[in-house]
Amino acid sequence: MGPMTDSPGRRRVLLASPRGYCAGVDRAVIAVEKALEQYGAPIYVRHEIVHNKYVVQTLEKKGAIFVEQTDEVPPGNIVMFSAHGVAPTVHDEAKAGRLATIDATCPLVTKVHKEAVRFADEDYDILLIGHEGHEEVIGTSGEAPDHIQLVDGPEDVAKVEVRDPSKVVWLSQTTLSVDETMETVGALKEKFPQLISPPSDDICYATQNRQLAVKEMGAESDLVIVVGSRNSSNSKRLVEVAKLAGASAAYLVDFADEIEESWLEGVTTVGVTSGASVPDVLVEQVLEYLSQRGFEDVEIVKAAEESITFSLPKELRRDLREEAAALVAERTGGTRG
Ligand code: SF4
Repeated sequence: MGPMTDSPGRRRVLLASPRGYCAGVDRAVIAVEKALEQYGAPIYVRHEIVHNKYVVQTLEKKGAIFVEQTDEVPPGNIVMFSAHGVAPTVHDEAKAGRLATIDATCPLVTKVHKEAVRFADEDYDILLIGHEGHEEVIGTSGEAPDHIQLVDGPEDVAKVEVRDPSKVVWLSQTTLSVDETMETVGALKEKFPQLISPPSDDICYATQNRQLAVKEMGAESDLVIVVGSRNSSNSKRLVEVAKLAGASAAYLVDFADEIEESWLEGVTTVGVTSGASVPDVLVEQVLEYLSQRGFEDVEIVKAAEESITFSLPKELRRDLREEAAALVAERTGGTRG
């Protein structure tokens, strides 16, 4: 039961903008759809193309097959690399496995890979701020394994050691909490005063904008619902940012039917947002759920305009079925002489 002021008429939803799909996710999902259209099923995808259950299930129905490792794909097939990026060794494995590849790595992740390669070439120690085990961190680290060490939050700083404190740079995963990352950078700078920063933000525009919107919205909300999957880094960060901004409670849900009635008890303002890998249809279902419970009044909280788009992976312009067949023929041709 809510407080006396909790009349149904006052119930409202604050809907964050921007939310949902970023340019990198949009591109990766369209790339799988285009590949299926152009080359037919199956198209193998290494790792979930984006960290969202609904998107993965929808693409599976259309003929995509998700695998964890490249060696699970039979030779002569097409494999796509996810938006999170892969280490160079994964490209080598695909070549060795006679696979044609499509690289759907987000260009903003590729940018971080390039920074890593450049600083490693200049023999810097690279401190990569990110979450251990996350696919993107594995990919970026693989660009320069001898030069990169992972720093998973401020508590990791004490154990960091470098060869030369005057030649240290920090880079980061693209989907971190901006504030928490700055805290880690602050602690690193105390330890290594000559630490240099990346040439431009590694935390991408989409992560930053979604956090900005949730900060504004969270400050005014009793409850914040973030639509996103549990393995989505940027979605999980939105829950944390909402709570820090002042929301009494914040939850992550994949689907509207995961919302518990008890969350709404005594609540007059519900903030709603979604992670960068979430299609808006899932947000619409949450709004529908809320409107059935008296939260019909929806106000948009706009924190930024977004107009970025990325062109599709260039490999989609080639005949990859033919390329894959040629790779297999090359091997058998070799033995036949
Ligand atoms: S969250 Fe950022 S880095 Fe990740 S795919 Fe989207 S735009 Fe690219």
